[in-house]
Amino acid sequence: LGHIAVVGASLAGVRTAEALRRRGYQGELTLVGAEPHFPPYDRPPLSKSVLTGADPEEVRLRVDEDLGAKLRLGVAAVGLDLAAREVRLADGERLGFDGLVIATGGSPRQPPALRGEPPEVFVLRTLEDSLALRAALLRGPRVAVVGGGFIGCEIAAACRALGLEVTLVEAEGQPMERVLGPELGRELAALHRDHGTALRTGTPVAGLRPGEVLLADGTTVPADVVVVAIGCAPATAWLRGSGLDVADGVLLDERCAAVGAEGVVAAGDVARWPNRLFGETMRIEHWTNAFEQADAAARTLLAGPGGEAEPFAPVPYFWSDQYDSKIHFVGRATGRPRIVEGSPAERRFVAVWTGEGVVRGALCVNRAGRLARYRRMIANRAAEDALPEPA
Ligand code: FAD
Repeated sequence: LGHIAVVGASLAGVRTAEALRRRGYQGELTLVGAEPHFPPYDRPPLSKSVLTGADPEEVRLRVDEDLGAKLRLGVAAVGLDLAAREVRLADGERLGFDGLVIATGGSPRQPPALRGEPPEVFVLRTLEDSLALRAALLRGPRVAVVGGGFIGCEIAAACRALGLEVTLVEAEGQPMERVLGPELGRELAALHRDHGTALRTGTPVAGLRPGEVLLADGTTVPADVVVVAIGCAPATAWLRGSGLDVADGVLLDERCAAVGAEGVVAAGDVARWPNRLFGETMRIEHWTNAFEQADAAARTLLAGPGGEAEPFAPVPYFWSDQYDSKIHFVGRATGRPRIVEGSPAERRFVAVWTGEGVVRGALCVNRAGRLARYRRMIANRAAEDALPEPA
């Protein structure tokens, strides 16, 4: 491969570029990034310490100094021609490649009913989003966070740390219910309530009006600032018409090679691939996955078609910091969880999901030290009778 182009110059893109070099690639390397930042910044602090005042310079990712990549920053890719092996850039350049890494991540979902501009309505994906929201929060507004996923929950916690009046609005019955199920969602709801966050759950948002959020049942939530945190969509608009399957992310094979295209791989939030450990095709929007998948994508690209490369079959993992709680999750959560260590009342516990007789997922709340053990059990498909008896 004489020239590898990496599109998306954030976590997954940069880590793939580094992995290519580490694995001996000496050819030309170009990193294309829509954002101007380099080294890129890290996103997890954007809903945590940055909102409460951290210096944005502290959230830069460290990048290998001898990466030897040409940087094309502040310019988005707008098209892909697989036959000509060219990426089309917004400034008109056609960037030829022998190998291509797709690492364009995602962008926040914001349906028309939830549109609006700062200083009233915010989404949170970029450093600029976070700094703009922080500036608004410093004015002491009443805040409504629409979406009780992990980012929405973190934003609510940050608002409370700033002493603000905040309401978390979630269409499901409980915050984080979609990931953790209703029982553990209830525990999380209690965590928020105990820290002074108001909850409005079980009713979808119908729209936004100046000074309030309108819910489908006709009630309203007063808000000077609204943060829309209802998930992210894979950034694949530039791949439309390329022939790649981009229904909910770029479809890959088990080794992270794009299906139906030679010499094309993808990694991070934009990628969807069959994870054989779980027998499931998944797209994971979490930091550790972007990091690990980057290495798998580099390995596959360098091995070439038909080359020997291991399937990418990780145990998905994410963490979330909410108030004084450290939440860690590994694996998949399907079916009903059971508490195997500690107790939710003390906010120190481990809950586990099993399926087909094996351990499949674990949630550790203020039990970070137990994470490695459950991660190992999930990776090894440990039998559920190996689990500790509940206390
Ligand atoms: P991104 O980080 O989104 O990077 C993609 C890059 O590609 C961006 O720079 C984008 O501008 C660029 N791009 C997009 N389209 C184009 C184009 N057409 N041409 C060129 N460039 C393009 N995960 C956790 O596990 N724990 C956490 O606590 C956590 N907190 C988070 C908090 C926030 C506020 C956010 C937004 C995310 C958080 N995450 C967390 C998720 C984690 O940050 C992401 O999974 C990770 O950033 C994914 O990396 P990526 O490189 O795939 O995508």
